[in-house]
Amino acid sequence: MTVTVKSMSNGHRSAEPPLDHDFHNAWGTIYSNSGFRNDDRTRQIWEEYTVNPVRVEQQYHVLLNEYTDKFQSFFQGYWPITFHAHVSDVLIPTTIASLILNTASTCPLVVEDPALSPLLKDDPEPEKVHQFVRDLLGWTDVHITSPKLAIVDGIYGCAYGPLAHSSDEWEYKIIGSGPEAIHIGRSDFSSEDALLKKLIAAKKDGCVAVVSDLVNASDGSVFPPESFRLLRSCCDQARICLLVDEAMTAIRCGAPLVSQRPEYFEDGTLQPDMVAFGKGMGISGVAINFNGLMMRHLAFHKQELIRQSIRFWRSMVTRPIATPVLIEALGILNLAQAEGWPERSEQIGKAFREFILRLAGNDGHGKEIIRGLGAFIAVDREISKKFNVMAAFRRRSSWARWIPKLNSAAAVDHQAIERYLVGIEAKPLRRALTEEALKQGTKPLWCWVCGIDAIVEDWCRTCFLGYCGTEACAQFFHAHNCL
Ligand SMILES: [Zn+2]
Ligand SMILES: [Zn+2]
Repeated sequence: MTVTVKSMSNGHRSAEPPLDHDFHNAWGTIYSNSGFRNDDRTRQIWEEYTVNPVRVEQQYHVLLNEYTDKFQSFFQGYWPITFHAHVSDVLIPTTIASLILNTASTCPLVVEDPALSPLLKDDPEPEKVHQFVRDLLGWTDVHITSPKLAIVDGIYGCAYGPLAHSSDEWEYKIIGSGPEAIHIGRSDFSSEDALLKKLIAAKKDGCVAVVSDLVNASDGSVFPPESFRLLRSCCDQARICLLVDEAMTAIRCGAPLVSQRPEYFEDGTLQPDMVAFGKGMGISGVAINFNGLMMRHLAFHKQELIRQSIRFWRSMVTRPIATPVLIEALGILNLAQAEGWPERSEQIGKAFREFILRLAGNDGHGKEIIRGLGAFIAVDREISKKFNVMAAFRRRSSWARWIPKLNSAAAVDHQAIERYLVGIEAKPLRRALTEEALKQGTKPLWCWVCGIDAIVEDWCRTCFLGYCGTEACAQFFHAHNCL
């Protein structure tokens, strides 16, 4: 077994197992078990920040611009504009409506028109700009005063706010607040005519954007590419913005964005207008695609005008992201590019699927036991239990979500996965994790049975598995077969 021990710049030594069995990874918020340590650029800024924070603060705008440019080049034309702590903070209809209004009010059709532009006129006429923008977007009073989002059913609802109404989990549902989203159900996809009618009605009702997942974050089911094609076409015809929630799928599903996989991207003529990002990115927010099906009508033909529009939005807040968060977010992007995480996620997904199907043996015959795309892997809950690994669960879902780290070389090789997870290397590897945890006074982080925080001192030192302390989980936990 090779447990690589690397010496860190601060003199601490950290054990880095070739592959660990934590596929929970804080609900998918961890892409790599070495953070951004391997990115020299951000590690140096970070180190400087700890000794001379003022000097780094002075470079704030340089760093923010660097992040913005890197983001749009990595994600091929999606510009990050608004930043928030959690995706639930951003998928709020009023925030999305204001963002669209900001983008339209600062588009070249406005700022380059001497009759309209507040930048070119001595006597700005905001009412005129507002009316122009409303006409451009096809919006009426209802879009301004009570904007709504439409969601494609199956999207996993946010933790709070308006989209929580649609959560599968009652704990979220009962704290949902704000206007209900407009639901687009499976039956609405029966024909182009039916979907278009639905979207035209939604727009009339105040819908400013349609929000969709392409991989269900709860059970890993995949949005059929032909349905996505229909959705893009109908959003285009009804002139409604399309936003894809990529919080779980960015970088992890075989392309920078899952919507850029060939089966969804197709020839690129109809692309989404926005993506929501979060989780492993280190910061949440929305990025705008100025070539999107609706955004392209705003005619942003120069990068300088895009930057200006972004500046107007960000100028409303003093610091769009705190400096340490910005450094980390930049480091993550740099590593994702340098280490080729999008391509690697596809290889990891393939290797894990091969491993799981082989080990599931006869139990896997005759039923669907694996879903998801790339390195977002949903495994039948019963099958997952056989593996003594930590996974992320939605409480009542019959699927366990395996969300492996993307930096492990062993994870792209199905034989290595088998060796480290269940084979000859598994026991010594877990013993090493146990020893390290005992030294540090920690324990396995996630309940092996239900995926929430493990809190009890009673955990398995052989398997490095713990549980949350509920009676139901205790029962399952104590019945587990040790490695
Ligand atoms: Zn539990
Ligand atoms: Zn055990």
